[in-house]
Amino acid sequence: MMRVGHGFDAHRLVAGRRLVLGGVEVPFERGALGHSDADVLAHALSDALLGAAALGDLGGHFPDSDPRWKDADSMRLLAECIAMLRERGYHVLNVDATIVVDRPKLAPYIARMRERIATVLELDLDAVSVKAKTSEGMGYTGDGTGVAAYAVCAIESMGEER
Ligand code: MG
Repeated sequence: MMRVGHGFDAHRLVAGRRLVLGGVEVPFERGALGHSDADVLAHALSDALLGAAALGDLGGHFPDSDPRWKDADSMRLLAECIAMLRERGYHVLNVDATIVVDRPKLAPYIARMRERIATVLELDLDAVSVKAKTSEGMGYTGDGTGVAAYAVCAIESMGEER
């Protein structure tokens, strides 16, 4: 049986923080504010995976009140999520994500993000899609207030013939 999952995340952009997207540090004058490394792409992907398996959400599994996740590498959290799915007999078919922010321009970093995600999820590169969109100056992703990411995934139960 195939299932799909959807995830969304957004973080505020502030001075004095790193901007980490899909495990890749993107040089920029501001970074994403959050308890962990505030990697919106990793968080949206994690929620998509958890959602596909109806396993709740990232905040439920890794609460930001827990000092263990302070400044956590969110790609580690993504790895924890995929491990939860595997324990329940699921494997991932593909993931597709969109990052929304006007600045910085992300095109030079997309390939590395895909590679990082593919490595953590143990997927072929062609099963991992990451896209970057601007919102043309509109709203919090357009005026520099924040960065957002959306993700979907398809997963399948292992050992079940259709
Ligand atoms: Mg988040």
